[in-house]
Amino acid sequence: MTRATRVLVLNSGSSSVKYQLLDMRDDSRLATGLVERIGERSGRLTHTPAGGERRTREERVPDHGAALGAAARELAADGFGLDSPELAGVGHRVVHGGRSFTEPVVVDDAVEAEIERLVPLAPLHNPANLAGIRTARRLNPDVPQVAVFDTAFHATMPEYAARYAIDARTAEEHRIRRYGFHGTSHAYVSRRTAALLGRDPADVNVIVLHLGNGASASAVAGGRCVDTSMGLTPLEGLVMGTRSGDIDPAVVFHLSRVAGMPVADIDALLNKRSGLAGLCGDNDMREVLRRVDEGDEEATLAFDVYIHRLRKYIGAYFAVLGRVDAIAFTAGVGENAAPVRAAAVAGLSGLGPQIDERLNSARTQGPRLISPQYARVAVAVVPTDEELEIATRTFALIGT
Ligand code: AMP
Repeated sequence: MTRATRVLVLNSGSSSVKYQLLDMRDDSRLATGLVERIGERSGRLTHTPAGGERRTREERVPDHGAALGAAARELAADGFGLDSPELAGVGHRVVHGGRSFTEPVVVDDAVEAEIERLVPLAPLHNPANLAGIRTARRLNPDVPQVAVFDTAFHATMPEYAARYAIDARTAEEHRIRRYGFHGTSHAYVSRRTAALLGRDPADVNVIVLHLGNGASASAVAGGRCVDTSMGLTPLEGLVMGTRSGDIDPAVVFHLSRVAGMPVADIDALLNKRSGLAGLCGDNDMREVLRRVDEGDEEATLAFDVYIHRLRKYIGAYFAVLGRVDAIAFTAGVGENAAPVRAAAVAGLSGLGPQIDERLNSARTQGPRLISPQYARVAVAVVPTDEELEIATRTFALIGT
């Protein structure tokens, strides 16, 4: 009998579906792809089989069903039909698991209904994630589908880190608490960091800095998250590409009362026209760094605000953890922007972390240490791999 060792990972957004097919015998990628502009006049599918040529197709993709159908056709053309007995299951990224889901789960009707009930907590993401799940279940009713939640890793936060200091009954009624996001990445990177140190994750305390277009920090003690910077929504915490991160909530009342802005406009301002983009017009750190090098004052201030916030979180998480073994940088900015890493850790040697400038600026791929051997707290660059983490968790739950 053929052993089922393949896992399809689906990351369904409102107008796109990213997919990867992995072979869990060696964690290798068999194919990757992206269907974009779902529901628009012309959609696009990009598909790349391992070791093969990338194929691009422009065609109308009316909905998520059509997107998955197109992906399934491309996979079948490479000999990876989704009806193959080698497909063990499908792993879905789901953004919000609320308090209901603290671990990945095999999807059934009750799980679908619960993800739906959580839509008010993630109105942009959960409906798209659900559309992906429903379509995949319809296309392939015999293959187990697993939901892996972005919030789940943070469910171990103690109550005093998860609660906002607001009226308890109102918080309870409206499910207002700090959930945290990017959990799949924080889980993967904290574990890989322990492996890089040659230690058991249960013995290691790590500060993970996930710095991408969205950005979040987490304090991980012995493999369990004890604090994270994002909250009820992914707006809290660090300065991001287009999001403000922490802000006095009274700014919202001020904008409403004094500037007369409708709530929807304030929402858009803080989520889409703030962060680096709000401060200097560019949300891409590459562009910000280029302008800093040219002496541009706006970009320099944006960079300084970004770094100041980051350093405050690093300091806070030293206090939260008590003992820190490593700081790990990940995601687009964390993996690629040496000046951000250098500035974030500069002058913190009293706390333990130090950076070796040569190691920091070396263009090396893969997980690596960038601290000198004598540093009391290691500093690491650990490329994140959320798809692999989703596939691993999916396979662990349903693998045969
Ligand atoms: P992510 O959300 O993890 O895909 O990260 C995307 C962000 O990473 C982009 O918006 C850029 O700001 C940043 N980024 C990617 N490559 C570089 C680089 N070489 N240097 C600085 N920032 C980068």
